[in-house]
This record gives sequence, C-alpha cells and structure tokens, in this order.
Amino acid sequence: MNKKEKEFVKNLVRSVENFPEKGVIFRDITTALKNKKGLQIIIKDLTERYKDKGIDYVVGADARGFIFGAAIAYNIGAGFVPARKPGKLPAEVESVEYSLEYGKNSIEIHKDAFSKGDRILIVDDLLATGGTAKAMVQLVEKLGAKVVELAFMIELADLKGRELLDGYEVYSQLVY
Ligand code: AMP
Repeated sequence: MNKKEKEFVKNLVRSVENFPEKGVIFRDITTALKNKKGLQIIIKDLTERYKDKGIDYVVGADARGFIFGAAIAYNIGAGFVPARKPGKLPAEVESVEYSLEYGKNSIEIHKDAFSKGDRILIVDDLLATGGTAKAMVQLVEKLGAKVVELAFMIELADLKGRELLDGYEVYSQLVY
C-alpha cells in the first residue's frame, strides 16, 4: 500500500469517542470496508503480501477478523479457520483466555483445524494491547501449527501490542 493509498484508507476510518466505554476511541472500520475503492486497496495489499508465503490457513478473529481473513484466504488459495468467542463452535475445541483493552474473554478453535506444521497467517482488524492476538498465537501453537505472521488493518502503537508479540512477524497497514 503506497502513501497515498494509506492516507485514503485512513481517512475512511471513523473514530468514535467513548465507545464501548468512556475513554476508548473506537476505530470503526465499517466506513472503510463499505467504500468500494477502500476495500480493494486493503485486500489487495494483504493479498500481494501473502500470496507467495506458503500459507496453508488464514485464521481470523471473531468477528471482524473474519471479513479480512476469508477474503485473503480466497485470494491466496489458503483455507480459512475462524477463531471464535466461547460456545459458538460445535465440535471439540481448544481454548485460551485473554484480556482485552476493555474486559476479559476467551477464544476457541476446533481441535482438528490443523495438521502438524501447517503454516498459519493470523488476521484481525486491529491490534490494541495484543491480548487477542497473543491468545490466537497460543491456540495455533497448541494445535501444532506454525505462525508465519500476524496481519492487522490498524495498529494502536501506544498500547504496545507489538511488544507482547515479540519474536513474531507483525504487519499493520495503518498505525495510530
Ligand atoms: P487487544 O486484544 O487489546 O489487542 O484488542 C484487539 C481486539 O479488540 C480487536 O479484535 C479489535 O477489534 C478490538 N478493539 C480493541 N480496541 C479497539 C479500538 N480502540 N477500536 C476498535 N476495536 C478495538
């Protein structure tokens, strides 16, 4: 994504103050995704980056990670695996608990999702504290697969999520 495209997409992201609670500036990506050119720039950039990295599965975080994850997986010829909030997946799951910028949660992946050594790209809309992403890394590794990289549309630099993911490749399209 070049500088002009970055600026274009950043201008499409809506910032909502005090949502979902006081003090949080919520970066609303729906306004960027609904823009035809914006969506193309975002997905094309991620497709170019990952098309030749031998990715077997793209793992998307519930729920906004599904939007990016499925589009990238389709474009690069990988499979898509959802990492879901508790109680949503019907078969046997592996689970990891994590803390959010606002609250606590856990995330689950089907136990039979990967084979040993499968190459995984983890995708979410936004990297804040890194708690969600770290939990996904732990889940993927518990299931015997290898995390090749983590990709985000937005990184909130002040929250230092990148530090929590030390040792892993982290790519973000826009930094706030
Ligand atoms: P974290 O685990 O702290 O890195 O939080 C990342 C997750 O929470 C992502 O799935 C985001 O969708 C969501 N999130 C956290 N902070 C924000 C924010 N300021 N604006 C929008 N989404 C956020």
